[in-house]
Amino acid sequence: MTETIDTGRAAPRLSCPDCTARADTQLIHDATCPLLAGVEAVCARDEAWFRSHPHSRWRFRDLWPAERAEIGVTGHQMPAGTRVRVVDLGGGRHVRQFACRRVVLLEVLDLPPARGWAT
Ligand SMILES: [Zn+2]
Repeated sequence: MTETIDTGRAAPRLSCPDCTARADTQLIHDATCPLLAGVEAVCARDEAWFRSHPHSRWRFRDLWPAERAEIGVTGHQMPAGTRVRVVDLGGGRHVRQFACRRVVLLEVLDLPPARGWAT
């Protein structure tokens, strides 16, 4: 007789193509993950921009390839012409809004990494 055990758990919804991270809601990347390094580099550039523009609370910029890969993990594809609005919340925290034709497609809250921003 064969017994099937249903654990009630589906396969994780998200998986990183560059490391072993798998999760349903939030990926915790391996420390050596190239995708994570790319996104952290973009976030560090944003933080440096806000430091050199202390009176600005937000900026628009182009979408970086690392961000396109980051969003691709969720199954979303950013259309051509997608721009990023970065809002500075202070303390190294940012919200990145991925928008196209005045429609916000996705919002990501960035917190500073524990080891501090790369420079
Ligand atoms: Zn990863």
